[in-house]
Amino acid sequence: MGKPGTQGRPKEGHPSGKLQLGIYWCASCGGCDIAVLDINEKILDVAALADIKLWPIALDFKYEDVRALPDKALDVSFINGALRNSEQVEIVELLRKKSKTVVAFGSCACWGGIPALANLFDRNQIFERVYGTSPSTVNPNRSVPALESRMPEGTLTLPTFYNTVYKLDDIIPVEYYLPGCPPPAELVAEAVDAIATGNLPPAGSVLAKEKALCDSCPRERAEKKVTTFRRVHEVQPDPDRCLLDQGIICCGPATRDGCGARCLEANMPCRGCFGPTPEAVEQGAKMLSAVGSIIEGRDEAEIKRVAAQVVDPAGTFYRFGLAASLLHRSYQERSLKEGVELDSRLDPTVVPTGKEAVT
Ligand code: SF4
Ligand code: SF4
Ligand code: SF4
Repeated sequence: MGKPGTQGRPKEGHPSGKLQLGIYWCASCGGCDIAVLDINEKILDVAALADIKLWPIALDFKYEDVRALPDKALDVSFINGALRNSEQVEIVELLRKKSKTVVAFGSCACWGGIPALANLFDRNQIFERVYGTSPSTVNPNRSVPALESRMPEGTLTLPTFYNTVYKLDDIIPVEYYLPGCPPPAELVAEAVDAIATGNLPPAGSVLAKEKALCDSCPRERAEKKVTTFRRVHEVQPDPDRCLLDQGIICCGPATRDGCGARCLEANMPCRGCFGPTPEAVEQGAKMLSAVGSIIEGRDEAEIKRVAAQVVDPAGTFYRFGLAASLLHRSYQERSLKEGVELDSRLDPTVVPTGKEAVT
């Protein structure tokens, strides 16, 4: 990949000589779109290099504008966020058709990210909590949004809300994965340069380093023997020693390098946002194994006592990767056995029906 600031000539293609670019968000916090703007003066390079054809958070293009484009008219689409509803699926499928290259932009698109933690619950539980039992909700009739609402002015429609949160490559083929929550500005700038110059690695590549974060961490490491786990706000960590050695869960052993160790520089543990290391099948399982191997106890009861000090294991080990995990698959299988309704992703029967719309 090219280095930031080494932009070459745009590839031949569009008569304007500019890269034809789409940027889209699905189930996203908006941070990934901000990350594009965060490339500072490089955004001027992007403006000089690219005609932006869709960017809902920043520019007022319509889906119809994209539908009207010839197939493969876009050189690249950056798609951020996980996928949770039918509008998101419809638009990423449209962008796939219209794009030569698709980049899964950010942890949510790559592995489901924070939104995929919702896969610990099913759709009915989520609707019950959001529209029923949350402390700030007053909704005695338990009204939930309806797919269609007839109003004097016409019929209003909402997208189908799926039972499961998906990562982008569950829905469409993806050429590149740009990790991070959000991806750092340097990596975004490198990706833009690489796409503009055609200086790209093989399709399927993750656009970050090919090693674990621990491999480049400068902190001093000892043989790990942990008898107490503590959360980072409960102690003042030694900034020179490995955080895991200090009993603070740091996901460095299971996480890909490439972020510049941003959290560690701030004396905070890695939360795993760069996804699994290149050889890891499963980031959460690798991290569970790393933690399991350092617990010291005289007997099984003591080991269990130490392990129980890890608060919120699912949120700690699967914070960014639940949609990509084996655990998620077994959750689905278990749900199936238990007869819990699962969406097949395009099945509208999973949408709540028969209740009035919230107006
Ligand atoms: S990867 Fe992080 S910054 Fe990007 S949309 Fe997801 S939560 Fe937001
Ligand atoms: S576990 Fe964290 S603190 Fe320890 S070496 Fe790895 S990245 Fe550094
Ligand atoms: S240290 Fe970990 S959580 Fe922090 S930015 Fe890097 S990969 Fe993400």
